[in-house]
Amino acid sequence: MDKTVGVLGGGQLGRMLTEAANRLNIKVITLDAAGCPASQINVPGNLIEGDFKDPQAIRKLASRVDVITIEIEHVNADALHDLSPVVDVQPHPETIRNINDKFLQKEYLLKRGIPVAKSIPVKPGGDAKDVANAIDLLNGNSYPQMLKARKDAYDGRGNFVLRSSSEIPEAIKALGGGSRNLYVEEWVAFEMELAVMVVKTEDEPDTDWQIATLAFPVVETVHEDSICKLVYCPPRESQNSSVPLDESIQRKAQDSARKAVAGFRGKGVFGVEMFLLHGDILINEIAPRPHNSGHLTIEACGISQYEAHLRAILDLPLDPKSLEADRAAVMLNILGASTSTGHLKVRSEAAKISRASIHLYGKPEGRPGRKMGHVTVTARTLVEAEERILPLINLVDQLRA
Ligand code: ATP
Ligand code: MG
Ligand code: MG
Repeated sequence: MDKTVGVLGGGQLGRMLTEAANRLNIKVITLDAAGCPASQINVPGNLIEGDFKDPQAIRKLASRVDVITIEIEHVNADALHDLSPVVDVQPHPETIRNINDKFLQKEYLLKRGIPVAKSIPVKPGGDAKDVANAIDLLNGNSYPQMLKARKDAYDGRGNFVLRSSSEIPEAIKALGGGSRNLYVEEWVAFEMELAVMVVKTEDEPDTDWQIATLAFPVVETVHEDSICKLVYCPPRESQNSSVPLDESIQRKAQDSARKAVAGFRGKGVFGVEMFLLHGDILINEIAPRPHNSGHLTIEACGISQYEAHLRAILDLPLDPKSLEADRAAVMLNILGASTSTGHLKVRSEAAKISRASIHLYGKPEGRPGRKMGHVTVTARTLVEAEERILPLINLVDQLRA
């Protein structure tokens, strides 16, 4: 009998995971609100309506599935831990707990000897003086600095770039006015951001990383206002070039990402975001699930990150060669425009471009900054893919203005 997969969260990642499962005849049951993107492409009985942080709702899901996985890390790791004797949870709840507090995650990586940006916690409920003290301790009062929320952050919504100490009160207000625990992170003047989707295929932590993990190709990510805007595969040498990034750096990024992920308990895809700084790799953060910067694996690689995640958590075979990209690709996120239907205009324009795959997520209405969909253009070369997607990038910029 095939196993049934339960997913906490039914946003776009849960929806694309369900798409991949549908093709494999694998049943997915989602826990999230009625009408969520994932529920729209599944039969009605396969949605448990509820809050994916609610222990009772998670127990209900557990009673109907063989393995529980997540599309978002901001879940109740304790509730999952309590359930782990009765249902397989992937990745392991301890891994989710180590990751969903971004400061703990950094400490964990440092302990394993993996380079990350220096950071220091602000005391709980701390005021402007406490933040200023933390900055002083970290970097002798230099700016810019990043003030970040430790938990529940995504799409840059837990980040504030501090340009001077006078902005600290405004930053505290923007990050929850003292209700959230914060930390200060040193500013990284990176040359480029890279990401690697790593598949962990072995349950145990610290197994030889070359045995326990596989890696998708390295991609370059371009963020605007802390939100991912574009993803390039292969990564470029620089933002003004279409020459691929040096292969030895790409290999280094893949190896660093695999070593970082090999230490976690449990299986599945992990999205590893990195900074490239003077040829060195610093890990920015790790998501214990498929990731926005891996969307283009759907069209560019032998199998997608979503199918790889399912195969890993269900112990299905996974040939490393299937993860390779056989064409170049550029992915553009469609963010909510200044009007609620701007994303539909992007769909019409994208339909005119050859080899442009359009993914809309079924979110009812666009709001500025909300991820409504994405488009991936594939081509034989990056130059060609970039050329074809350029009018769409311009349109998305225009609609956001
Ligand atoms: P996600 O949606 O990927 O979970 P997030 O909200 O957790 O994102 P981060 O990944 O911490 O946010 O940061 C978002 C972006 O902000 C990064 O991709 C990078 O562009 C920028 N950024 C984050 N930290 C730093 C830093 N220390 N120095 C410079 N830029 C940074
Ligand atoms: Mg994050
Ligand atoms: Mg991030």
